[in-house]
This record gives sequence, C-alpha cells and structure tokens, in this order.
Amino acid sequence: MEISEIKQRLPILKVLSHYHLKPDRNGRLCCPFHNDKTPSMQVYPETGTWTCFSSNCSAGSGDQVDFIMRKEGITKHLAILKAQDLMGETGDPGPGKSKPSPEKKLVPELTPGERTQILTEAFTHFARSMNKRPENAIKYLESRRLDYKRLSIGFDAGTLHKIKETTPEQKQLYLQAGLLKPDKFGREESYYTRFKGCIVFPLLDRSKNIVSMYGRHTEKPEHHYLEGDHRGLYPGYPDRETTRLILTEAVIDAATLQQLPEITKDFSLLALYGT
Ligand SMILES: [Zn+2]
Repeated sequence: MEISEIKQRLPILKVLSHYHLKPDRNGRLCCPFHNDKTPSMQVYPETGTWTCFSSNCSAGSGDQVDFIMRKEGITKHLAILKAQDLMGETGDPGPGKSKPSPEKKLVPELTPGERTQILTEAFTHFARSMNKRPENAIKYLESRRLDYKRLSIGFDAGTLHKIKETTPEQKQLYLQAGLLKPDKFGREESYYTRFKGCIVFPLLDRSKNIVSMYGRHTEKPEHHYLEGDHRGLYPGYPDRETTRLILTEAVIDAATLQQLPEITKDFSLLALYGT
C-alpha cells in the first residue's frame, strides 16, 4: 500500500482517537509531543495533516504516518503497518477504488499456512532450548511441578534470531508473526524476542496446528499472548467424543492436570484465557 493511499483513506481524526485524543471545535489540541499547557497543535482533517506551533517543540508538521511514528516511537515502515491496521481490513476503499489486493501491501500479512509454519519452527527452537536445561526455566517448572519432558512446552531464551541457522527470510516472518520485536528505533541489532524469559505453550487450532502462543515469565509475574486476536486453545480443541471437560482458568493449571494420567483418561482439559 502506498503512503498516498493511507493519506487519502485514513482520517487523521481516526488516528487521534486511537490515542484517545480529540481536537476542539477549532481543530486544536494539546500537542502530545511536548509538555503542552495550551492547545498548540492544529489539525487539518482535509489534508490529514497537523502542525505544532509551539517553539518548545521539535515535532513540527506531519501526516497520519508521521503522527503514528512519533507517538509510538517506531520506524516509518512500522508506522505504515500500524496505519494499515487502523484503516481496518474491511475499511471503506473510498469512492471509485477497489479494495487493494494483499500483494500490494508493503509487508504482506502472513497467510494462516505461513503463520503456522513459522510458529512451528519457532516452537521447535523453544522446545530444543529446554534440552539445555536453562536454570531459571527449570527452577520455575519445578516450583510449578511441571515436567517439560511430559508436556509440549518450550523456553524462549531470547536467541530465536541469533542462532546461525536463522535466515533473513525467517527473521522477517518472525517479525510479522510478532515473535520478534524491533526496538523503538527499528535497529536490527536490537531486536528482541516477544517471549524472552518465558516458558512457552503452543495454542492449537482444531486441526492441531500451532496458531498462537502463550508465554509465562519465569522470573516476573508476567504473561503474554502473541499480539492480535486470541487464537488457538491450550492444550488444544477437545475431541469430539469428549463427554467430560475440565476448564481451568490458567494455561499452567491445564498443563499441571495434563501430566496426570488418572485425570486425562476420564477428562478432556481446556484452559480459558486467564493468567
Ligand atoms: Zn508540540
């Protein structure tokens, strides 16, 4: 997608409202890019642009993409992706325009097949990392009485993009899948992994493909899902024949029960999207 298309189709007011900002009836608001006591920023909805008139501010003027870049502290490339998100996939293509085909996007969205493939590759790496018995992971699992040899779990040691087998194409796919994150300057040498320091659990679709992941941090009381819609279930979709199902709040609880044959012979398990 071209920037000119974003300029035409993404109202600047929509960008502002995404950040809970709203200009007054004169199109002015307090500038979010400096410590602004009076509304110094003028918004021009017709052109999708804005200008901060304060001499204390380095923001100057810009368009929708510039606003997102500054607000999020991200690269132009990522801001364009974010702008596309804000436009929504089913957004109004505008008068006389057909909806752009996915090939036209700068970074095509992953197809479900690509997504599953790259998540599976990443998970294989995470699962292998457990064989090195990383100390904090082992300690955490022992404290929760989880046996990684009996469970489908892995550990993100933060090395996904650093191992020499990782190709540039894979790196790009990891970024697109949200497994790898750029720092706010988008510099490749400072990419970091989404689940660094986490025990990682695969979330599966009905056909047992990995469609997302859940990570529980081993040292901090933190947990993460892959960004975007919640997809996939842990430990997976219950069999059709299931007559008795145990719902657990947390993924960890489902994993605990999954280790117990006396439970799994009579019950299916399903974790809700809890902690
Ligand atoms: Zn300003």
